[in-house]
Amino acid sequence: MLRFRPVLVLLLVAATAGAALAGPSDPRVALKQRAEGETPLIADTFELCDRVGGRITGSPAMDRAVRWGVEKLKAAGVDSVITESFAVPFLWLPGTVEVAATAPESFSLRAVAAPGTASTGSPIEAKVVDVGLGRAEDWAKAGTATSGAIALVHTKEMKTFDELFDEYMRAGPLLKAAAQAQVRALLIQSTRPRGLLYQHPMVFGRTPGTVPVVLVAREQANRLAWLADRTEVRVRMDVVNRIGPSFDAENVVAEIRGKEKPEEVVVLGAHLDSWALGTGAEDNGVNSALVIDVARAFKELGLEPRRTVRFVLFGGEEQGMWGSAGYVERHKAELDRHAAVVIFDIGSGRTRGFYVSGRPELRPVLAKALSIYPGLGPSAHALEGVDGTDNFDFLLSGVPNFVADQEPGPYLPDYHAESDVPDRVNVKEARRNAGIAAALVWSLANSPASIPKRQTRAQVDALLVKTKLVEQMVGLDQWEDWKAGRRGFPPGP
Ligand SMILES: [Zn+2]
Repeated sequence: MLRFRPVLVLLLVAATAGAALAGPSDPRVALKQRAEGETPLIADTFELCDRVGGRITGSPAMDRAVRWGVEKLKAAGVDSVITESFAVPFLWLPGTVEVAATAPESFSLRAVAAPGTASTGSPIEAKVVDVGLGRAEDWAKAGTATSGAIALVHTKEMKTFDELFDEYMRAGPLLKAAAQAQVRALLIQSTRPRGLLYQHPMVFGRTPGTVPVVLVAREQANRLAWLADRTEVRVRMDVVNRIGPSFDAENVVAEIRGKEKPEEVVVLGAHLDSWALGTGAEDNGVNSALVIDVARAFKELGLEPRRTVRFVLFGGEEQGMWGSAGYVERHKAELDRHAAVVIFDIGSGRTRGFYVSGRPELRPVLAKALSIYPGLGPSAHALEGVDGTDNFDFLLSGVPNFVADQEPGPYLPDYHAESDVPDRVNVKEARRNAGIAAALVWSLANSPASIPKRQTRAQVDALLVKTKLVEQMVGLDQWEDWKAGRRGFPPGP
């Protein structure tokens, strides 16, 4: 039941003047108003980051995070909360890393192990060979000098999403070239200045890498490079990662059941797992808190959607979106009745629209659902195809999927880094994002019209080509899984 004080009604009408169909009885207005006020969103983000901490899937911290998510969603008053298991192809947890130059003089290096890559087994010591940016021509130029050596790979400073994406796309070819060149290990220069370190997966497939790889502070990598240009440089490395076989992890799945069409489902999701140099605030604690807050908002305001809303905290995202892949596999029989999936995964950057991944027919759906937000009309929504977050296996299954297109700051500079901690969160934008998520999910779950239909495998195949997602899938080791039907639709027409 919605109740407004008269003064509030006036303010709301003024704030939404010009927006179609928005009025004081529009639940979206109440959801927006609530989200932009004092909600537990920020306190929850701090609690998750500061009390649970960084939470790599397969670690005890991630188990604690799952329990935290279950308790928060129960407290929000949803109709049900369960955990659902999914398989992660292999375990990779950081252990200890010691890296130091031993010649021409001794100094220690600030370094972290690259997720998914091998341990050194025992300490190794070898000559450093500079392979420039690690392109095919760089390896060719280095010739046989790299055999048995530790190769030093330079990087460009990362300042944009495109540059970050390039970093991911280089990982596979780099590991392959390193293995072919028979290096003992790789030292990769951090793409962030001033000593900042981060952990990115180098491997997205189903088996861990065979070459030990560490990321070295940017300025120290430069020091090694100029020394290596003048004299012999030797480095000692002792890297112990915890690597194990396939294991089961858990998603948290909560529901508010639909009043009229309970069998039709709208999913609001964010990944709960993170890397653990920082505490995963921007990536993606704040949006885990957002998912919980939208559930809380529906209950607080007494809103009963026509369709069922599922609030999902995915695990295993950072290793290759295994949680959402597992959800899609487990729920494949009901994907025809999944009306839409909404994902938030770009921290607390201002939402400037949603990615519709090559489906223009979804733009008016968003525009209508978000008509109380000026600036989020049809043209605000990007056609670009999104791989690399939890919409992807839904996309591969033809389900309409939306990923919040958020401004890169404050997410990008601290991405996967030591500095991804909750005081970086933009409180105002995080609250606005929660309001947008709530209004969108409410509209999708409550609209009398049906949402554009699930695509067929043939349509998804065409979409992958049209959006150039094929190239990304090849780079991220997903293409063979799609072709073989291990992800998304089974193979066939
Ligand atoms: Zn993320």
